[in-house]
Amino acid sequence: MNKKEYLLVKLIEELSEVQQAVSKALEFSLEDLYEGKSNLQYIREELSDVEIVIQLLFEEGFDVTQGDTEHTLYSEDKIKKIGKWMEYAKEKGCLESV
Ligand SMILES: [Mg+2]
Repeated sequence: MNKKEYLLVKLIEELSEVQQAVSKALEFSLEDLYEGKSNLQYIREELSDVEIVIQLLFEEGFDVTQGDTEHTLYSEDKIKKIGKWMEYAKEKGCLESV
């Protein structure tokens, strides 16, 4: 395993920790405290950990992000897709209408 591969393993780990923090927030609320920190704080910390690993990958010459223009175009497309699936979840009665 080289350094880039090692950092990709760390990226997997940190993304899993984001999943765990979000899961706990949905189970017990964003405000619920565990060992003195709220679930919202855990989410922020884990997202920060992901950003740090992405930065370390970038410093190794491996840019896992996209250029600004592509990212903006991709984001608009992704936002539309999320909206489409939210509407479908409402139709299925799985998501409350606001
Ligand atoms: Mg972490």
